[in-house]
Amino acid sequence: MAKQEDDFKKVISHAKEYGYVFQSSEIYDGLSAVYDYAQNGAELKKNIREYWWRAMVQLNDNIVGLDAAIFMHPTTWKASGHVDAFSDPLIDNKDSKKRYRADVLVEDYVAKIEGKIEKEVKKATKRFGEAFDKEQFLSTNQRVVDYQEKATTILKRLGKSLENEDLADVKKLIEELEIACPMSGSKNWTDVKQFNLMFGTKLGASTETAMDLYLRPETAQGIFVNFLNVQKTSRMKIPFGIAQTGKAFRNEIVARQFIFRMREFEQMEMQFFIKPGSQKEWYEHWKAHRLRWHLSLGMGEDNYRFHDHEKLAHYADAAADIEFRFPFGFKELEGIHSRTDFDLSKHQEFSGKKLQYFDTDENKNYVPYVVETSIGLDRMFLAVFSNSLQEEELENGTTRTVLKLPAVLAPTKAAVFPLVKKDGLPELAHEIIDDLKWDFNVLYDQKDAVGRRYRRQDANGTPFCITVDHQSLEDKTVTIRHRDTMEQQRVAISELKAIIHKEVDMKSWLMKMK
Ligand code: ATP
Repeated sequence: MAKQEDDFKKVISHAKEYGYVFQSSEIYDGLSAVYDYAQNGAELKKNIREYWWRAMVQLNDNIVGLDAAIFMHPTTWKASGHVDAFSDPLIDNKDSKKRYRADVLVEDYVAKIEGKIEKEVKKATKRFGEAFDKEQFLSTNQRVVDYQEKATTILKRLGKSLENEDLADVKKLIEELEIACPMSGSKNWTDVKQFNLMFGTKLGASTETAMDLYLRPETAQGIFVNFLNVQKTSRMKIPFGIAQTGKAFRNEIVARQFIFRMREFEQMEMQFFIKPGSQKEWYEHWKAHRLRWHLSLGMGEDNYRFHDHEKLAHYADAAADIEFRFPFGFKELEGIHSRTDFDLSKHQEFSGKKLQYFDTDENKNYVPYVVETSIGLDRMFLAVFSNSLQEEELENGTTRTVLKLPAVLAPTKAAVFPLVKKDGLPELAHEIIDDLKWDFNVLYDQKDAVGRRYRRQDANGTPFCITVDHQSLEDKTVTIRHRDTMEQQRVAISELKAIIHKEVDMKSWLMKMK
């Protein structure tokens, strides 16, 4: 645990030191769970968004984009169920006065059991070497089987109590498991209560006529209320999808995990409208497809797993998370939900307007079913950033800090250095930049020895460094160094564009999804 916390602290301080993420309004001591993206962070975030958008909208001829407003008519949130049901169960510790999400306390307890299972697996892998069969071990080792059973029983009970709104049983479960406040170790808990997560605001100039509004807690509803407008104007036939990225706001009870859980964040969502009855097939399709998108970034298959929901949201008939191995363990990165016709039917009921599709093959009208994929852009940022930050032992005994961002997402693709600040080398370096900048983000650096400049760009996540020296003036060649391998090559200046392009081109990364 201590190592995990330490690793996570390193991620947060590196994000600040290298201009990725700052605490919001830091000069006023910050605002809890609100963050600003700095010069590098804004680029990384933009590249992740673009990678998602191209995979969704550009590569699927039956998916179109949308950019709906953050403010929506307040009835939207009555229809969607958010006014009544968008809440989390909270519990306070009477001694430490700290507030927690009751379900998260139990889930963290289960995560510890899972940690024990992982430890047993690691030990056994060492013991049995090549001959180790993980599946067999998981199903036959008595200790592991017992752990697994305990974890499943706890999660099932939690799911059932939440579904039945039996908050007293959630408290009982916390007491039975003897869960203590992580801050104080106290087990002196209040009752569990529900807490609505929507932020309210007002629209209108005078107090008498002002209308109560909510900041949207998800982008999905903007898609549902526009379903028919988009379908008609694009003349899409079912099955088809509508994708959008944008801000969402949630007054989270506990927000202590940097950009993992924020009060203002960005979502990338796609709602796929289908024929009723085909939801199982499309749900499986999108689960597999979204995992392929993640894997295309090459961040390691072992770092992802599916988690099927025990407790289904009020709108869903099936739901799974794609979980990622964050510095604090496996946690939800993306959700894939089969939402039935819940949303469109509710909007139809509350608005009095028909939200139906005329299926020419079947010659009838129906309210389509929906399968949704929903990922937090900030969470994806944290997954990419934390997974990329590595300390490497070098052959000469020193270590280097390197941010091995997938090159396609890196904020700056290349840094250009003159070996010395004279003899016309800076001028040639600038000439190279003036040519490359039309295709890529590139930067110039002439400060310190070249070795230190390399280290700086390694920590910055820049995939290439290009050094201009005296030989460059004579034969128009430079040294190009690769961030991950530290390999250096002498190449013609005229080849630079093609070399960089080959590694950072979005098309070749996206093609790995095939
Ligand atoms: P959690 O269980 O972690 O609260 P959720 O199940 O409420 O998440 P969804 O409503 O399914 O999340 O939202 C879809 C995605 O939006 C999540 O998978 C996550 O990536 C992102 N997300 C949700 N809440 C936040 C938040 N407070 N900060 C950052 N990202 C978030």
